[in-house]
Amino acid sequence: MPSRTQGKAINPAALHLNQMHIPHRKPPTNVPETQRFTIVSMSNTPQSAPRPQLAHLTAALDDLRARGTYFHLRVLDDQQAPVCHYDGRRVINLASNNYLGLCNHPKLREAAIAATQKYGAGSGAVRTIAGTMRIHMELEAKIAAFKNVEACVVFQSGFAANAGTVSAILGKDDFILSDELNHASIIDGARLSRAKIKVFRHKDVAHAEELLREIQLEPGHKLLITDGVFSMDGDIGPVAALADLAAKYGAIMMVDDAHASGVLGRNGRGSVDHFGCHGKVDVQVGTLSKAIGALGGYVCGSRDLIDYLYHRARPFLFSTSHPPSVAATCIAAFDILETEPERIARLWDNTRYFKAQLAAAGFDIGGRTTPASETPITPIIIGDARRTMDFSRALFDAGVMATGIAFPTVPEGKARIRTIMTSEHTREQIDRALEIITTTAKQGGIL
Ligand code: PMP
Repeated sequence: MPSRTQGKAINPAALHLNQMHIPHRKPPTNVPETQRFTIVSMSNTPQSAPRPQLAHLTAALDDLRARGTYFHLRVLDDQQAPVCHYDGRRVINLASNNYLGLCNHPKLREAAIAATQKYGAGSGAVRTIAGTMRIHMELEAKIAAFKNVEACVVFQSGFAANAGTVSAILGKDDFILSDELNHASIIDGARLSRAKIKVFRHKDVAHAEELLREIQLEPGHKLLITDGVFSMDGDIGPVAALADLAAKYGAIMMVDDAHASGVLGRNGRGSVDHFGCHGKVDVQVGTLSKAIGALGGYVCGSRDLIDYLYHRARPFLFSTSHPPSVAATCIAAFDILETEPERIARLWDNTRYFKAQLAAAGFDIGGRTTPASETPITPIIIGDARRTMDFSRALFDAGVMATGIAFPTVPEGKARIRTIMTSEHTREQIDRALEIITTTAKQGGIL
């Protein structure tokens, strides 16, 4: 085979060491040998002087403090579990997405450790260069079989899966029709694609149709997209009705099942399975970071869709793949969805009980001025952002971890405490949490 070095004498030792193109610099002679390669810093104290070019950020933080919505990150001292320690305090945890308790499942831990022992700690490259390990392919095949689709691609996160896919399959002459409460990763993907964005009212299929009709004669591709489960209100997207609409207008149908994965459908197969509309949704996104208990996101669909994403989705092309331990953990999790369906049954049992008790106590858990939750995500709607954050802090002090959510994550005036039930909460823990929530709410004038 002809090569650029043809005809030149090559030193094989130099080739092996890959040193042929490394320019050699002379080491400085005025520095003792032992210090030549150390970075010498001026001082060990952190930068302390205010930076005028960042003054607007300081002002924005001051503004958050004035509104009462500034927060400190709560730090988990032990495991993601129904009762655990945050900031050194023992609390009943109502805040995680660990729906099925898989973050701590012994089989997932064992899988992670075994994969690390066998394949190492990291993958070493992006998928398209040298970072596709056999275990990544096994995970994709496993998910495709689970979802009953031709193929699957795994991304580093659910965010990357949504943003990477929407931006790859649409261009500036295309249209995206998106529910007003769709996740930020869909919105960012739509912006990156430079497609024209049309937003339909929440779950309003008639409005979506009106928008589709308006652009019916436009030549661009159309993508209709909804969350399977909306992350802040816990309601279920009208996936089947939107899929029918997409078929009627020749649009691509896409669903983001981040909160439906492991929660809705047979053995947690997601919203398409829940609605029985297999074959009608072109792009199914799911996450591996919530019910699956690990990290990552995936896209399921036709072989060509997945091949195209292998070639064009930017997080796939430009960001390193998962460590083998993550892929192994996820494979073990999908086995558990098949072998331990009782976890999903317990999740729904706990959810029904918790919702009924909260409603009976008189809380607004959605369905008045906000959508009604239908899943383990149960908001306690407060409205005012400061009161919400104060309530969340008071709950924490009393022994319940339940995060306050305010604008811009939810609309202005719709601040809430967001709770999530898991399969692993015991009835005793749930009752104790309800007692604390009710007492604290009465003390704070919320009930
Ligand atoms: N979509 C929705 C609806 C979500 O709630 C989330 C997580 N906040 C994501 C996508 C992103 O998933 P991940 O955390 O795996 O990046």
